[in-house]
Amino acid sequence: MIGPGPNHPVAAPDQRATRAEIDLDALQRNVELLRGGLAPGTELMAVVKANAYGHGARMVAETAIEAGASWLGVATVGEGRQLRAGGIAAPVLVLSPISPAEAELALQVRLDLTIATPELLAAITDASRYATGTVGVHIKVDTGMNRYGADPELAAALARQVAATPGLRLAGLMTHFASADDPDERFSEQQAELFRRCLTTLEREGIAPERRHLANSAATLRGAAHHADLVRIGIAMYGLRPSATIPLPAGVRPVMTVRSTVGRVHALSPGSIVGYGGAYRTRSAEQAVLVPIGYADGYRRGLSNLGWMMVAGQRAEVAGRVSMDQTVVRLPIASPVSVGDDVVVFGGAPGSRAPSADELADLLETISYEVVSGISPRVPRRYMRGGQALGYDPGASTPAESGANRDHDAPARLATREPS
Ligand SMILES: *Cc1c(COP(=O)(O)O)cnc(C)c1O
Repeated sequence: MIGPGPNHPVAAPDQRATRAEIDLDALQRNVELLRGGLAPGTELMAVVKANAYGHGARMVAETAIEAGASWLGVATVGEGRQLRAGGIAAPVLVLSPISPAEAELALQVRLDLTIATPELLAAITDASRYATGTVGVHIKVDTGMNRYGADPELAAALARQVAATPGLRLAGLMTHFASADDPDERFSEQQAELFRRCLTTLEREGIAPERRHLANSAATLRGAAHHADLVRIGIAMYGLRPSATIPLPAGVRPVMTVRSTVGRVHALSPGSIVGYGGAYRTRSAEQAVLVPIGYADGYRRGLSNLGWMMVAGQRAEVAGRVSMDQTVVRLPIASPVSVGDDVVVFGGAPGSRAPSADELADLLETISYEVVSGISPRVPRRYMRGGQALGYDPGASTPAESGANRDHDAPARLATREPS
């Protein structure tokens, strides 16, 4: 259970109706189901970078650990530090390259690091002289994605150097698939083969990384072949499929639902325009329904005249342009709708007729990752457990915690639990 402490949810940060509801029961179940599908002995890293794909890093991290994840993955030192400030003690790996100047801070807060260059390894080695305990280093092999990583020969050289340096531990050897979601698995197989060869070279020299890891959600869901010692799961844990060709295990369901309420209902006569630029014009009498969400909340402007929401249980299309803070949707003139009615912007319980993050992603020609991670910090995250509201993200949206208070501590923690 979520107990008192730094991650304790707090009372509503504002009175605006727009909320991202985060279903911690779904998250917990998703982690359990995904873990259940792993090869025996494989551990699960919950990838919580980018504020847990917009779901709120600390609450997601805590819930995922309770559900059996043993590692956390972040993209930056700042993200790792925020987890530590939230009292999370589990191993945390920074998946992306850091700048050498950040090495000391990263070690102070006990982050494992992904390394692929001699320069970064030198900076970590220097910083490790002042660190307490050994520093976990994961060498990343570039097996063909050509993003971050060291070519296999350099990777082996870096791994040897780590193994020979007191104060450093070769905590992992890793790679990342470029197209794990491609039904044609040949490229992934080629990458896995290069990785195996690098590993074998090292093992022949008596150098054994503590963990070998390759798989993201897509590679994990395609079968146990690449589970190795640890899988790095992001999108599937949030209940979203990595791509249209990779189904999720039965029972895995979306964690985020963005909700709001109707702010204004207004009858329009035929020929009326709606919003900036008059980009929508009524042909018949209709109702304009105002929803307080806009592109600054992450409801993208690309959804102008394109997106739709569920308003009081009815499908309502976006009318005209999405503006920064508000969007107008339309309903037939006779539809029952009033101020304060529920709006589901996307997500929703199983069986909900609201658009899914995937459907919005399709409309926007993007992927669900961008839809959920794009929900901005202005939208309070409201945590749900057992159908009850626990409260709001202690780390987001309250003025006392943004900017001025870099460690995200104190004020919000003093707030009380929201009455459910
Ligand atoms: C983000 C990330 C993942 C998680 O990917 P999903 O497709 O969301 O499962 C795994 N590994 C690395 C290196 C990443 O950066």
